[in-house]
Amino acid sequence: MRELDKFVVYTARLKKELPKEAFKPAPGRLFGGLAYVCVVITCFLTIGLFNFHPLLNFVFSIIIGASFAALGFLGHEILHGTVIRRAWLRDLLGAIAFWPLSTGPKLWRKWHNLTHHVHTQHQDNDPDAWPTLEKISKMKFIRWVYRLPLPVRSLFSFASLTIQFTAHSLKMFLVYIKEFNPKKQPSVWAQAVLPWMSWFGLLYVMGFEKWLFAFLLPLLIANFIVMAYISTNHRLNPLVPINDPLANSLTVTVPKWVDVLHFNFSYHTEHHLFPGMSSKYYPLVKEHIKRIWPNRYHEMPLSRALKALWLTPRTYFESAHFVDPHSNKSYGSLGNGLDPKNIKPLWGDKNDTYDTNTIRKTPPDRLF
Ligand SMILES: [Zn+2]
Ligand SMILES: [Zn+2]
Repeated sequence: MRELDKFVVYTARLKKELPKEAFKPAPGRLFGGLAYVCVVITCFLTIGLFNFHPLLNFVFSIIIGASFAALGFLGHEILHGTVIRRAWLRDLLGAIAFWPLSTGPKLWRKWHNLTHHVHTQHQDNDPDAWPTLEKISKMKFIRWVYRLPLPVRSLFSFASLTIQFTAHSLKMFLVYIKEFNPKKQPSVWAQAVLPWMSWFGLLYVMGFEKWLFAFLLPLLIANFIVMAYISTNHRLNPLVPINDPLANSLTVTVPKWVDVLHFNFSYHTEHHLFPGMSSKYYPLVKEHIKRIWPNRYHEMPLSRALKALWLTPRTYFESAHFVDPHSNKSYGSLGNGLDPKNIKPLWGDKNDTYDTNTIRKTPPDRLF
């Protein structure tokens, strides 16, 4: 199969197996969104109108945070046009669903649909791809961070999952705002600013303590939930010059009830093959991929993927490997020698033999 043809070959082959309804919008998903909005409003009123014990309020924070995250998953789906096709309604509903995470629909579609999906895991063009050793060596602060031992870095990077979506979204705003047509820039600004104004308005109305439980803690919880998926979507896969979803994406598995609550967001490889298809058909797409290309497909439980992230450094070396600038150990990526059930360095471990077939070139002796 020629590299350039892979995407087309996969989708053309799978299309033959899928029913026609799979390519139609699925507006029924909106009932799930409505249920989450009702839950959030009820929790806001409960926290605002009563003076419950902080522990009970924290339970409401968890419920609100889980609902914020689920609304984000639905917003992602809506803005791919798989729920409703009419552009203005799609953007309006997408804006509502992404309101808690304060990401505007125009920015999201540019950053995610038009850039991440088109250039997935391309080292220069994917705004969500993790940097290479070469790039990191030029960033002073990050170089310092990478001198810390891996478990310390992992602890910090897992703690930072509680703010990563919000922080990355603000960064994407600064990166892409200049690229919008000047006539469209005011609406992109409005979509970014209005949600924050409403959340600070809520602070004014509720006072800090209640706002902490109603918005701030739920926002951190929602960040953690969405980032637990997003961090495993591609970060164990290699960087690739040409978009090949079976090589550059990972599908994680979660209990069925979690898939129901999260609108099947776990099916990320399927999503990259058919971003315009409602995720309710992804289990069917998965069955066919596993039958046709069983050796190319990557899938594992979410807990195992998170453990693999914890145990491996996040610096790409030669696209298909991760290297730890602190210990100089090198690890494979998915499809390139990484065994998520038994994570160990391919190179650099004193007691270990390294596999000469999977690692072609060793990293330099002194990295920084
Ligand atoms: Zn992705
Ligand atoms: Zn997407």
